[in-house]
Amino acid sequence: MKLGVFELTDCGGCALNILFLYEKLFDLLEFYEIKEFHMASSFKEHDHLDVAIVTGTVSCQRDLEVLRHARNYSNYLIALGTCATHGSVQGAVEGKIRDKLEKVYGTRANTMKALDPKPVVEYVAVDFALPGCPYDKMEIYQLLIDLAKGVEPIKKDYPVCIECKLNEYECVLVKKGLPCLGPITVGGCNAICVKSKLGCIGCRGPLPKEANPAGEFEILRNLGYDEEYLRRKFKTFARGELRW
Ligand code: SF4
Ligand code: SF4
Repeated sequence: MKLGVFELTDCGGCALNILFLYEKLFDLLEFYEIKEFHMASSFKEHDHLDVAIVTGTVSCQRDLEVLRHARNYSNYLIALGTCATHGSVQGAVEGKIRDKLEKVYGTRANTMKALDPKPVVEYVAVDFALPGCPYDKMEIYQLLIDLAKGVEPIKKDYPVCIECKLNEYECVLVKKGLPCLGPITVGGCNAICVKSKLGCIGCRGPLPKEANPAGEFEILRNLGYDEEYLRRKFKTFARGELRW
C-alpha cells in the first residue's frame, strides 16, 4: 500500500511521533511503501495513495493546497493529532488574522497568505480522526496495521474518565478537587496524565454528544475556580466548541 504523510502548520510533534515508533516502523514497512514523509526523508514521489496522514492546522494558503492534494490523491485520509482534528492551541486563539497582522506588523497586508487557523476536518472529509497532542504513538501504529489488514479501525467515543475507571486510578477531580477535564475529553490516551496524579487538560479535544461541559464548568466554579481561568482552560484545545 502507498502511504504519504503531510505536515501543515504545527509544532512537528505529531509527525515526529510516528518516527518514535522506532523498530515498529519496520512492521509498517512490510505493508506500506512511503511516497512522502518530509520529517523522515527528502524522497518524494507524486502518486495516488492508499492512505494519507495529515497533521497540523490549515493556517496559510500553502497548507490548504497541501491538504487538497492529500485528499484528492488518497483513498483514505487520516487527520492525525488535535491540530488536525480540533484546531488545537492555535485554533483556539481568538480574533481575525488581519487584525493580528496589523497589531504585530502595523499593516493588514497578508504577504504570507496566512489564514485563520482551522482543523483539517473543517476543510475536507476525513476517513479517520485521531486526536491527541500528541496522540499515543501505538494508536497510529494500530490504525495503520488495521487498514493494511482490512480491519475496521475502532473509533474512540468515550471520555478519559472511562480509562481512569478501567485502570482504577483515583479520581483527581473528586478526591483532590483538581480541574480535570477528563469527563468532557475524548479518551484513548489511557488517562496518562491522571496516572501521574495530574488533571487532564483536554488535549484530545472535546467529546461530542453526551458530554456536559456546562455541568463540569458549574462543578469547578463551585470548587472555587475563577470563571475566566475555566473559560480559557475549556477552550484551549476546543476552538470554541465548548460554548454553551
Ligand atoms: S480523574 Fe479526571 S478523568 Fe479520571 S475519573 Fe476523575 S474526572 Fe475523570
Ligand atoms: S489525560 Fe487528558 S491531557 Fe492527558 S493525554 Fe489524555 S487527553 Fe491529553
